[in-house]
Amino acid sequence: MNIKDLIKDKTCYIVSNELKEEILNYINDNKLLLDIHFFSLSELIDKIYFKYDDKAVYKVAKEENISFGNAKIIINNLRYLMYSNKINNEKYIHLLNIKEYLDKENLLIYDLEFIDYLKRYKLVSDLNKGNEFLFKINELLDQKIKFITLDIKDNIDVYEFKDSEEEIAYVANEIASLLNTGITPSKIHLLNFNDAYKAYIDKIFTLFNIPYYLDNSNFLYDLNVFKRLYSNYLNGISTLEDTEYTYTFNSLLQSLSFIENNDDRNEYLLYLLKNKKVKKEKYKNCIQISSFETVYLENHYYFFIGLNNKVCPILKKDEDYLSDKVKDELGYITSLKVNELTRNYYINHLSSTSNICISYRLKDFFNSYLKSDIINEVKANIVKRDLNNDYSKNYDMLRLTKELDMYYKYDSKSNELIDILTKIKKDSYKSYNNSYKNIDNDYYQNNVIDKKISISYSSFQKFNECNYKYYLDSILKENEDSFNTYLGSLFHYVLEQIYKDDFDFDNCINEYKSEYILNDKEQVLLNILIPDFKNKIKIIKEQYNKGNYKIIKKEENISLKVKSDLLIRITGFIDKIMLDDKNHAYLVDYKTGDTKLTLDYLDYGLKCQLPFYFYLLKKSENYANKFLVGCYLQIINFKIRGYKESDKELLLEGLTYNNENIISEIDNYYQSDSFIKGIKPNKNGLGTYAKTFNDEEFEHIIDTMDTNIKKMINDVRNANFNINPKMIKKKETTCLYCNYKDICYRKFKDYVDIRKDNKDEMDK
Ligand code: SF4
Repeated sequence: MNIKDLIKDKTCYIVSNELKEEILNYINDNKLLLDIHFFSLSELIDKIYFKYDDKAVYKVAKEENISFGNAKIIINNLRYLMYSNKINNEKYIHLLNIKEYLDKENLLIYDLEFIDYLKRYKLVSDLNKGNEFLFKINELLDQKIKFITLDIKDNIDVYEFKDSEEEIAYVANEIASLLNTGITPSKIHLLNFNDAYKAYIDKIFTLFNIPYYLDNSNFLYDLNVFKRLYSNYLNGISTLEDTEYTYTFNSLLQSLSFIENNDDRNEYLLYLLKNKKVKKEKYKNCIQISSFETVYLENHYYFFIGLNNKVCPILKKDEDYLSDKVKDELGYITSLKVNELTRNYYINHLSSTSNICISYRLKDFFNSYLKSDIINEVKANIVKRDLNNDYSKNYDMLRLTKELDMYYKYDSKSNELIDILTKIKKDSYKSYNNSYKNIDNDYYQNNVIDKKISISYSSFQKFNECNYKYYLDSILKENEDSFNTYLGSLFHYVLEQIYKDDFDFDNCINEYKSEYILNDKEQVLLNILIPDFKNKIKIIKEQYNKGNYKIIKKEENISLKVKSDLLIRITGFIDKIMLDDKNHAYLVDYKTGDTKLTLDYLDYGLKCQLPFYFYLLKKSENYANKFLVGCYLQIINFKIRGYKESDKELLLEGLTYNNENIISEIDNYYQSDSFIKGIKPNKNGLGTYAKTFNDEEFEHIIDTMDTNIKKMINDVRNANFNINPKMIKKKETTCLYCNYKDICYRKFKDYVDIRKDNKDEMDK
């Protein structure tokens, strides 16, 4: 069909997105000025029936005591009550009551003039008439909609393939051939896609270097970032991140201000996160994986795959909320009629004279298939096709390897093997080169970096452990929730509250909310850990009474802006900052798990948690002029043990300013029974091994951290993500617990040896 034939003044188009774009392109190219309008099917239904929003869904769910998803189904079914006969049926009466309730609350938005408005225009649609509402709308418009039908031919070829692999490889080869003749990718369409084809298309189209666009966006809640935002929100943790994700999250939250009850609002927010899709940029100049419902245009090329039984056409069954019998009484078409119209729509499109290549397969990895029944109705010649590859050497290499494996392992010599061997040599069989190539800088700058970088202690540590690990982590964001993270968050939540006058341990534990679901084993373990945790809190509160630092800042969120063309922030949540009345401050960070304290790796930016916090405080607006007298970790370990032992474990571990007067203010009992590890004086004062620092050492820490952070920013900007894991001790490398051990291409030569005194004779 020629697009020009469809363009007429004073027309409303009820069409697919594909056709809408083609029409708009034509109008732009030809600079036409026309009175035309476009509606998608859902827009049309909203206008002719009614629109509704989240408030209506929420109200119906609460009134009817049903899930939000079911409430939405019920509201959509209310449309059958419009433009229909009145009937005496239980479900009908139930729906009627709900509709009256929503009308009373003004929650259904009508545009009753719209039908008359539409009648003033010519109406054109490329959609399948077999939609119950579209069919009814056409009746209301006195059958005014002109449904586009295509010119058809008597006989068509339908290609049969052994399996999905061969079918998609054939299509890829045909597409490559079209592209080779100069056809623009956007004029090539792959129709009738379903998820069973995704893996084949991803693999084969990539090997053929075919650009394609597949709209398979995730739901918001599938992304870890939204899980984290939701969990932070539940626990009252504010986030300083300024990203499109936080913007989306906050907008969703704001849209629910009509829900007064907090639990209900949280529940509805979760429902939205699980049902809204992530917005994805649509690429145009590539193969369009389009819907079937569109006209086929002249000079465009269509590949219709998977014409298999039970896959295409998918027939509607009588299993809706309102049965066929009820719909018939109401004056709506039944599934029988829907299926008849759908079949006609398919027959017309499949028999069209357009450039269309139709195929089906007999099996894939998981299923066997039959050809679709509709093939008999379109008078098709079944043509058996084999795989054909003239454009991808990589794909041939892959096939060759597969066939050679079969030959050497099972002595099976296929015709395919002989065929490929005439094209390529088998020299490279069983050899590989997986050495790491640098990240494509252009791709990185345009698609990955997104100009916003947040440097936290953990990302800083990761970067210095291995630049590549940081890259993978910031791209793949592999941070699955686990029992450990659940426990860490729960304990941090409680520790944040302990200095409140009305603090009650048990209430606090019960108040904590998380999306993480504990299994039975974890619940038992938690029940064992909680009393131990309660004891530890008692000790932490006793420590507070032993010093003169009485002002406590909890969960301090410090964020430094860095002057740069990128939006960079250095951020840190510090669990506790203790202040006295003399402008002195020290900080404490709670840790679950062992951490060895050392400044040995400061130059390499490793094990630098305390220096990182020093740096953060020193450079921050609120703490720059405070005199920092200490920086500590407080290790909260659980090994199910006696009270005495935990007492020792809770000592503050870190660095203290080496002045005994100042130390005595932090801990009045530092000489005998200090809660700070390693500062007990001997008869000559603080010993040489005391974990202290002086002014000069403090400046050195800040300067070194400054150099380390600047280097990281520079490397991140320039995509310097070398594989450079560190060898820390004889048997300790930064790869030890890395999540990416199985997928990175590290070689022995990549290791950077930063061992201190652990070099053995051979190393020397
Ligand atoms: S396994 Fe080692 S080399 Fe590979 S990413 Fe992790 S730290 Fe880097």
